[in-house]
Amino acid sequence: MNNPKFLVDEMLGTLARWLRVMGYDAKYVRNMVNGDILKLAHEDSRILLTRDKELAKRSGTGIILLKGNNIIDQLGDLIYRLDLIFDKERTRCTICNYALILADKNKVEEHVPARVLENHQEFLICPRCERIYWKGTHWLDICNHIGEAMQRAKRYHDPR
Ligand SMILES: [Zn+2]
Repeated sequence: MNNPKFLVDEMLGTLARWLRVMGYDAKYVRNMVNGDILKLAHEDSRILLTRDKELAKRSGTGIILLKGNNIIDQLGDLIYRLDLIFDKERTRCTICNYALILADKNKVEEHVPARVLENHQEFLICPRCERIYWKGTHWLDICNHIGEAMQRAKRYHDPR
């Protein structure tokens, strides 16, 4: 599948955020009964990601049961199974899942700390919540973790 969309159950909130950073549309559901979750995934053509074995049993295809206990294992497993890539041009808002757009530096200057303005040229903004993003240390941390998960996935492909 070229550009999968995901529905992520409430046990996997961090995974949803990291998938958004990687550029994938990942909708996160909370407080929803299993029947409604399955219905939403189906209607919206989303792959359901869950840690709930009961839920996974109820649906044949279009659902992935993630067994890893930590985020690196879970993401590594998913990258391996679906050949996911990290497209830094397609990063989405980690809060609301909207694709980020480039923002003019002079339009964001009132909203970001002076030191950040000095050190960064590129800013992105979420068209929905207007949160401003830049590629600072937090971003680099996430990139490193995603890189680690990519390495993990490669090892599944090529076990030694
Ligand atoms: Zn947003």
